[in-house]
Amino acid sequence: SRTPLMVGNWKLNLDHHQAIQLVQKLAWTLGDAKHDYDAVEVVVSPSFTSLRSVQTLVDGDKLGLRYAAQDISAQEKGAYTGEVSAAQLSALGVSYAIIGHSERRQYHAESDALVNAKILAALGADITPIVCVGEALEVRQASEHVAFTLAQVDGALAGLSAEQVAALVIAYEPVWAIGTGEVATPEDAQEIAEAIRARVGELVGADVAAGLRILYGGSVKGDNVAQIMAKPDVDGTLVGGASLVLEQFAAIAGFD
Ligand code: 13P
Repeated sequence: SRTPLMVGNWKLNLDHHQAIQLVQKLAWTLGDAKHDYDAVEVVVSPSFTSLRSVQTLVDGDKLGLRYAAQDISAQEKGAYTGEVSAAQLSALGVSYAIIGHSERRQYHAESDALVNAKILAALGADITPIVCVGEALEVRQASEHVAFTLAQVDGALAGLSAEQVAALVIAYEPVWAIGTGEVATPEDAQEIAEAIRARVGELVGADVAAGLRILYGGSVKGDNVAQIMAKPDVDGTLVGGASLVLEQFAAIAGFD
């Protein structure tokens, strides 16, 4: 009942010309493979500067894929130079927003409180938050990864209603597995995904927890996606490097 979700996070790569090309080629490749977008949802997340181009292509060519923003402002409007609001993204047909990615937590000092505010802003504009959580290497080495990650979940979801939690996605991305080629084992991914689902159950009820989609991210590739997706509590992947490589991301979307 939880539709698998494959998200390509392009990070700070590709200008809008290159973004159009990759989206077009991805849609053609998936089309040739007769990809069923209702069976496996496929989302790409380009830079803000490419969203308008991608929208034109997706709407114009009636492509089955969807697109996400890599961040979203917690502010509605006003004197916040450089910010992009939920309403602006919603007007561009953006379906999802990645929120609280570890790179933003690390390089832009995003706190759990800010992540929480961004989630509320996204939900207010009918944009589905993809809320990122996950521990750094020291935390894992100290065997505190479960407690650390669940504390991030608590912080991100603070004060949210069951209905609001039902409208979001959580992505577990251990920082030590991002861009390192060091993929968490499927068992590691399952351990945390199961713990997140249990915690969400405690917070807002078992029904919402049972329907919640939990993604794994960190060095996902075409040749390891199937084992990760075989785990019962992992419902999809959040893919960085491999999402920029057409054959890789097409394989991930088909998870083979
Ligand atoms: P990589 O797939 O490059 O490890 O990046 C993962 C990630 O951070 C996706 O958001």
